[in-house]
Amino acid sequence: MINQKINELIVYAKKNLYLGLDDEYYAANRLLYLLKLNKFNKEVVSEELDFFEIINSILDYAYENKIIESNTVISRDAFEAKIVDCVLPRPSELTRIFKTKYKTGPLTATTFFHDFSKATNYIKTKRNEKNIQYTYDGKYVPLEITINLSKPEKDPKDIKKQALNKDKYPTCPLCMENVGVYQSTSLAPRSNHRVVSITLNHEKEEWGIQYSPYAYFNEHMIILKKEHSPMYVNERTFAELVDFINKFPQYLVGSNAGLPIVGGSILGHHHFQGGRYDFPIEKARVLRKYKRRKVEVEILDWPMAAIKVSSNNENALLDMVSDIYKAWYKYENQNIKIYSHTDEDHNTVTPILKLDGAKYNFYIILRNNYSTEEQPYGLYHPREELFHIKKENIGLIEVMGLAILPGRLVEELNLIEDCLLNNKDPKEYKELEKHLTWIESLKEMKINKDEIQAVMKQDIGHIFEQVLEDCNVFKYGTKEDLLRFIEKVV
Ligand SMILES: [Zn+2]
Repeated sequence: MINQKINELIVYAKKNLYLGLDDEYYAANRLLYLLKLNKFNKEVVSEELDFFEIINSILDYAYENKIIESNTVISRDAFEAKIVDCVLPRPSELTRIFKTKYKTGPLTATTFFHDFSKATNYIKTKRNEKNIQYTYDGKYVPLEITINLSKPEKDPKDIKKQALNKDKYPTCPLCMENVGVYQSTSLAPRSNHRVVSITLNHEKEEWGIQYSPYAYFNEHMIILKKEHSPMYVNERTFAELVDFINKFPQYLVGSNAGLPIVGGSILGHHHFQGGRYDFPIEKARVLRKYKRRKVEVEILDWPMAAIKVSSNNENALLDMVSDIYKAWYKYENQNIKIYSHTDEDHNTVTPILKLDGAKYNFYIILRNNYSTEEQPYGLYHPREELFHIKKENIGLIEVMGLAILPGRLVEELNLIEDCLLNNKDPKEYKELEKHLTWIESLKEMKINKDEIQAVMKQDIGHIFEQVLEDCNVFKYGTKEDLLRFIEKVV
């Protein structure tokens, strides 16, 4: 049986993963080593192959034969990546194929790389399909909510193992050291991880692109500097984003702010996120519009302080974006609690760029990470009573109007429903502790049983809207303060 599965995997790889004719026995022998086998017989197998059926059979074999210690999702994922790696092209070959495809066009190249990353199951397509997605129609244009079920929550044992590991290699999850790495199940599976080299802003081959395994939106890509160096958001970043869009006009690209609290989770490694997706912010209504030579500046009707700069002219666009950034960087207004600097910088932006035909649309979201003893999470962070739904930093995906919520929420919502319908005491469930105030308010609403799930989803949407409003840097002032700020710049 296992011999047949190896044959099937090889045929699959020849069809979908660019496994060359001369690489067949080479790949088979690598698989034999992993599976502790010493013989491979070539067999004719059906052309109708299902990757998941093949890989699951091989993983079952590995567990039954004690090749993998545990049968958890994390352990299986790690070994699966190792198996798939045996039949993949080397990273440099992949970059070569990508560059050949790019000669036909940037869309051909990214479609190839995206399809490849799905075919290797690096992008967890099957799990992503289970994500719960809906829209919330509130005060602004509809916001989008995703409960992401594809990112497995880590096993506490694995987390402990990782915490014990002081001598970190790879330095961070975005480092090039991750390409093909396999250490233990405490790291995300990277054996089948591939990064394609690109040139950005005249830095030849110093950048890489990869797809996100958990695909928070369509063709969710990570664009990273190969060198492990801290994130920065300034004029140079804006130029890098423009250059990326010139090279990949089919994509949107953005950067998290470079400061703690208002930035992303990996500040130590400069990177952007991109993808092929229309975000709610693109449909936002316009509160005020200013026209300057070659450039339009719009203040958007958005829960956060959002400015859209549009132009067909790259230099005029970059000049205006930089002017806004520089003005915000030093903007201070203690009357409305905006403190730009203490012994460190507090003002920054989340920049996002997308093309609309020949026109660049640059979205600049103003951010501030000032915190006090009373508000240790920052003045412009979700208030603590909303933490039961969203506690993490509000990064560039959220500021564009898409909430990514953890998968555990699905079970928690079911449990809340069970408590409400069957008069169970939510206090008996540890995982519901953080939701108790919310559950009380749901109880008072006396919702009938067919509507509970819908009401909870709407509540979550409303909470997300409030979360974004909490991050609005002009929330202690008025819209006029924002308008006055922008009018001084344009
Ligand atoms: Zn790194």
